[in-house]
Amino acid sequence: MPRQLFVTTALPYANGNFHIGHIMEYIQADIWVRFQRMQGHAVNFCGADDTHGAPIMIAAEKAGKTPQQFVADIAAGRKQYLDGFHITFDNWSSTDSPENHELAQSIYRALRDNPDGSLIETRTIEQFFDPEKNMFLPDRYIKGECPKCHAQDQYGDNCEVCGAVYAPTDLIKPFSALSGATPVLKNSEHFFFKLSDPRCVAFLQQWTQDGKLQPEVANKVKEWFSVRTNPDGSTSEGLGDWDISRDAPYFGIEIPDAPGKYFYVWLDAPIGYLASLKDLLNKRGQSFEAYMANPALEQYHFIGKDIVTFHTLFWPATLKFSGRKTPTNVFVHGFLTVNNGEKMSKSRGTGLDPLKYLQLGMNAEWLRYYLAAKLSNRNEDIDFNADDFMARVNSDLIGKFVNIASRAAGFLTKRFDGKLTSEFGALGAELLADIRSEADAIADLYEAREFGKVTREVMLLADRVNAYVDQNKPWDLAKDAANNEALHQVCSVLVNTFAVLTRYLAPVLPSLAQAVQGFVGQRMDDWEVDADVQAIQPYQHLMQRVTPEQLDALFEPKEPSAPASPAHAAPKKIAKSAPATVPADPNAPGGEALAPTITIDDFAKIDLRIAKIVACAAVEGSTKLLRLTLDVGEKNAQGQPTTRNVFSGIASMYQPEQLVGQLTVLVANLAPRKMKFGMSEGMVLAASHADEGAQPGIHILTPWPGATPGMRIH
Ligand SMILES: [Zn+2]
Repeated sequence: MPRQLFVTTALPYANGNFHIGHIMEYIQADIWVRFQRMQGHAVNFCGADDTHGAPIMIAAEKAGKTPQQFVADIAAGRKQYLDGFHITFDNWSSTDSPENHELAQSIYRALRDNPDGSLIETRTIEQFFDPEKNMFLPDRYIKGECPKCHAQDQYGDNCEVCGAVYAPTDLIKPFSALSGATPVLKNSEHFFFKLSDPRCVAFLQQWTQDGKLQPEVANKVKEWFSVRTNPDGSTSEGLGDWDISRDAPYFGIEIPDAPGKYFYVWLDAPIGYLASLKDLLNKRGQSFEAYMANPALEQYHFIGKDIVTFHTLFWPATLKFSGRKTPTNVFVHGFLTVNNGEKMSKSRGTGLDPLKYLQLGMNAEWLRYYLAAKLSNRNEDIDFNADDFMARVNSDLIGKFVNIASRAAGFLTKRFDGKLTSEFGALGAELLADIRSEADAIADLYEAREFGKVTREVMLLADRVNAYVDQNKPWDLAKDAANNEALHQVCSVLVNTFAVLTRYLAPVLPSLAQAVQGFVGQRMDDWEVDADVQAIQPYQHLMQRVTPEQLDALFEPKEPSAPASPAHAAPKKIAKSAPATVPADPNAPGGEALAPTITIDDFAKIDLRIAKIVACAAVEGSTKLLRLTLDVGEKNAQGQPTTRNVFSGIASMYQPEQLVGQLTVLVANLAPRKMKFGMSEGMVLAASHADEGAQPGIHILTPWPGATPGMRIH
């Protein structure tokens, strides 16, 4: 019977782009989902942006946007990451969706109106209020002097100097981090979810300790039932109630029948899982209620270790006492560190920008394979190490596995018209049968999320295939036509073993598996296929090796934002020190991969103006430079028009007299730079190919008619 699975990953907070930790979690979940689908099971794999709360409201205000526009702009950037790493969510939604508003309110009503007694309670609490911003302040937005060590400028919940934990009201000389105003204490009615209710405690003890959770997670959770830390640092016994409300102004979902009160973001965030699923089923014309009512439905959440409380206490209790299905399990992973052991390394930083990885043209499946090789079903941290990455990709993935196909394919195509034999010889038949017999064991490892063990198993099988190659030496057999039959057998065995191993790795390497599907004419997305390959298509290269240069470029520390050199003063030097020291890539536009994405705010820092070239002259002592005198519409203190002096490395393309009177584009706020020939006060824009040898020439930009000196380019 096909299983019905509903799978989610943690909802990323919509105040920034994905980082490598998000991508690791999505890859982990995607591998598991793809495996389940290969088994013929029906999976709905859902994600969404977590959009509510004070940090987003404040960030949006700073950016001069509505919160809705702010999170929409973040959402627009998601697809390039998900597509780039082959992560196949069935749906990506938002916690600000109508489905989530409706579900959150209906779940709240069910908790409040629980027939065995309400699980919602209101209490008046005293909280800091910013009289200028007219809002209650979250702890992180109150600062002041540490009551213990008297360090200045510490947050409302703990001191970063001495580590003390305290309540915001303990701060000496508190001030609002938003306005600087001195906050006042004000009473507010808050809504609490009564986790301390004996029904909740009994349910959660059972739900968390019945053996479904990872042992290290269950042990951690156990502690919370006996003792908890209060906001003031003291401890109490047992589960505490959970404050689920925030006061307006707040970007969130309104609490029914409570004007001016909103759900705390962590109440509605996990409900976003259901909302995304509901949105998906609505789009398909299916009933969400009917889908959720299926008792056989399995519900799984992949999360990081930092949000275990929310997912093993608050979330199951929220579902249980609102009369809904509780999660089948929560799968917790550790954090990803980068080049952990090389923190001192000067050449390689400790950040891994997933978008830069893609923009450098690095293969997404290298990363999928590497992370799979490191992942287990335990909640433990893993480290991305650049040298280890290169070894596993080049030696294991390509050297041991991908090369099996290339060693056999040429002979089969040239000598046997691409046809395979099913006569494998005794050794070959035994090898193939052994490899096929591992299917169930490998499936069990996938089911248990032991992806590291999967890759180790497959590499051990690949070692056996390579030993068979060395025993039978097809390149020697090919020297004498008398060995044709043996050559045919050996190569047929190799292609068949390759097809089986590819299927074993297909959840990790979906794109390669699809290419192999075309090559061997067998489905690679179905675990059950065990027929012999009949014929192959001519072999196409399946995967490049990773190079040290790519890793160097990936981990190159960010350029200091300070003085950029005036471009084109010396084009060759600039090509070397330009932000992306990417090797020229003939397949990329203009010979170089696109630079990492910037925000509109980054762009706004660059002040581009229309400039008129009022004079132009050759520079004595330089064959490259022209001296441009530019009118940018500027005046001095006396109101007299002034000009700028700019050197530009365009002498190879233009005669000075060609340029006089022309309009062009100037980077007007670039720090002036002293050069051998004088001061350069800005930089004119010009286009060139990354590989000057391939496509020489440098071309200055000219605006369309109508633009006048001094106009800003937006
Ligand atoms: Zn302190």
